[in-house]
Amino acid sequence: MNNTEAKKLLEIKNLVVEKHSIDGSLKVLNVDDIVLNRGETLGIVGESGAGKTVLALTILGLLPSPPGKIVSGRIILDGVDLRQQNHSYMHKDIRGHKVAMIFQDPMSTLNPVFTVGTQLMNVIKKEGHISNKDAKLKAVELLSLVKLPDADTVFAKYPHQLSGGQRQRVIIALALACKAELIIADEPTRNLDVTIQASILLLFKELQQKIGLTVLFIANNLALVSAFCDNVIILRHGCIVERGCVKDVLINPQAEYTKLLIQSNKHNDSKKIFNNNEILLKVKGLRKYFPVEKAKQKGLFVKAVDGIDLNVKKGEIIGIVGESGCGKSTFVNTILCLHAPTAGKVYFNDEDIFSLSKNELRHVRKKIQIVFQDPYWSLDPRWLVRDIIAEPLRVHEHLTAANELYRVEELLTLVGLKPEDAFLYPHEFSGGERQRIAIARALAVNPELVVLDEPTSAIDVMSQSQILKLIESLRQSLGLTILLISHDLGVVSQLADRIMVMYLGKIVELGYTNDIFKEPLHPYTKALFNSIPRISVDGKGLQAIEGEIPSAVSPPSGCRFHPRCPYAITRCAGSEPVAVSLNGTHEVSCFLVNKLNPWQEETTNENA
Ligand code: SF4
Repeated sequence: MNNTEAKKLLEIKNLVVEKHSIDGSLKVLNVDDIVLNRGETLGIVGESGAGKTVLALTILGLLPSPPGKIVSGRIILDGVDLRQQNHSYMHKDIRGHKVAMIFQDPMSTLNPVFTVGTQLMNVIKKEGHISNKDAKLKAVELLSLVKLPDADTVFAKYPHQLSGGQRQRVIIALALACKAELIIADEPTRNLDVTIQASILLLFKELQQKIGLTVLFIANNLALVSAFCDNVIILRHGCIVERGCVKDVLINPQAEYTKLLIQSNKHNDSKKIFNNNEILLKVKGLRKYFPVEKAKQKGLFVKAVDGIDLNVKKGEIIGIVGESGCGKSTFVNTILCLHAPTAGKVYFNDEDIFSLSKNELRHVRKKIQIVFQDPYWSLDPRWLVRDIIAEPLRVHEHLTAANELYRVEELLTLVGLKPEDAFLYPHEFSGGERQRIAIARALAVNPELVVLDEPTSAIDVMSQSQILKLIESLRQSLGLTILLISHDLGVVSQLADRIMVMYLGKIVELGYTNDIFKEPLHPYTKALFNSIPRISVDGKGLQAIEGEIPSAVSPPSGCRFHPRCPYAITRCAGSEPVAVSLNGTHEVSCFLVNKLNPWQEETTNENA
């Protein structure tokens, strides 16, 4: 065997996979040649339906058949042609041994009835004769290796007691426990916050350097791949449209589709300043506390929203950003009167909405609509699109059947779909198209304010940029005012006129998008910016925020960000910073905001 052959861990040749249905057969994968060398990280990028997951499942011998069928091709792992092997070999020697898979959703991968420690020890013991004591030591060592703080405590926990990011680290520890030579990671950070995503990507990168992991990294986003892969393959409709070293592909993309993918990752940082002083929504001192149900913490409250003041102008888009648990959704749900407020007032068109009668509130609700994050869950699969869009019309407007259908078709056209789509079911649409249907439903009753709750996080990059364009054009043509919730500052930068950054129930920074993008001032905003994966040829630039967001039941004293803030000074733990207004349009709650070279100087002086 020559040197080149010895380096190869996985080789795929002329692989063709079809999907059979009553409508006939469809080629879902047709790849000529993929080579993955030992110690290499290969990124596979493509939209939903490009064939990425089919490829991963085919390698593992897990392709559901029917409807899937491998028509031809070879999959050679370490010199062995996997297509020639029987189920027992694949089960005993390949899956969970030579090859480990990391799925999108760690909760469905972990067994909920066993502790993390038991699950890890089971895998370790399967890999070799080892005593319980040593298996436990090894399990704790692996939990530390994947940077879980207090590994001994995590060892004794059940999956539901961990956060999404912690669970994904446990899955990585499991993959390492089975000493897999190849790890297939299928969009492992898809459901995670941008900050947690950054820390998981950095962990992969570190492990790759430390123990020479070989990784097949599947992603729908070129920016993620550029953060740590060596080589990349761009898949479209099951075929390879471009391949090469990440740097070359990014600097000099050849395929039109690759150029489009790169373009859709670029952020617009030259927005026009929004000019309208008419206030539509005024929020004053809004608080929402939830009583804790657990017996041990009786009498305590989750302070999800803790004193928010905000004026939203007519026609404006406000981007609300922050990690999961920062109170973004509770804030808008309280405005939507889905939660009763603990304190504070909300005025919509100068009307105090918390003092309205049920009937009056119904009238206001018509004017405020919401589009949810996941169009796969928010549309009833048993209903025709026509009924889904007409639902709010039936509640609020009582039109004749003919007028109702006319309005539904008008709305479908408005969001870029066809009138005849009214007679299809949600499953017949892609993720992006479903989100258009959800937007059409929200617009049915001519709202003035629309809340978009993570409108693009469940759809792929190409559909994302189309949905963002649609939202901007609807704002222009209908004069909508929009509250846009997102943990992704990149999405917000393209749409929002102003950005409101939340941390543990409070606003830490509020200002024009241009200003915040040019120079984020609060350390938390800076950290959020640094966690956004950007397309970069050097794979650098990605930084994670240390630690996770603390519990809102007992938030840290003083500045709530101080345990994670790299610039914290003694004073930060003792007293809470109030919002400082800079040039009347930019507010920041941080003691160091007025310093000329704030971070360096103050940290050095006060801590000296
Ligand atoms: Fe960091 Fe202190 Fe500013 Fe809070 S007040 S963000 S801890 S420097």
